[in-house]
Amino acid sequence: MAIVVKNMLDAKGRDVVTVGPDKTLLEVADILNSKKIGAVVITGMEGRISGIFTERDLVRAIASKGPSVLDQPVKSAMTTAVTRCREETTVDELMGMMSSGRFRHVPVEHEGKLAGIISIGDVVKSRIREAELEAEQMKAYIAG
Ligand code: AMP
Repeated sequence: MAIVVKNMLDAKGRDVVTVGPDKTLLEVADILNSKKIGAVVITGMEGRISGIFTERDLVRAIASKGPSVLDQPVKSAMTTAVTRCREETTVDELMGMMSSGRFRHVPVEHEGKLAGIISIGDVVKSRIREAELEAEQMKAYIAG
C-alpha cells in the first residue's frame, strides 16, 4: 500500500511553526534559527494558510534589497501562491510537487486549515524506511 501524508504526520507530528504577516524578517530569521527549520507558514484568519516564507526567501530579500529589509514585514517577501497537499496525498505525488515547483516544503491542508507540513527531509526519511522494509521482507522471504 502506498505511503500517504497521513502516515508521515502520524510518525512526525502535526505541529507547524506559524507566524503572523506583520512579523519582521529579522524576527522570522530568529525563529528559523532557534527552531532549526527552513520554513514558516504565515496564517491569517482562523488558521488559514496565507503564505509561506523559507530561508531561500530570506536570502533573496537580503541580496536584492540589502540588510535594511530585515525590518520589513514577512508579508512583503512571502510566497502567497502556496501549493498544499492533503492527508491522502502519496509520497510519489509529493515528490512530483516538490520537483516541478522547485520547493522543499508542502503544507498540509484539512478542511481549509493548516494541518501539518512535509519537508523534503521527511520525504527522504519515508523513502529510506520504505526501502528498509522491502529489504527486510525480501530477507524473510529468502530465509523461508
Ligand atoms: P524552499 O525550497 O522550500 O526553501 O522554497 C523555495 C521557494 O519556493 C521560496 O520562494 C518559497 O517561498 C517557495 N515555496 C516553498 N514551499 C512552497 C509551496 N509549498 N508552494 C509554493 N511555493 C513554495
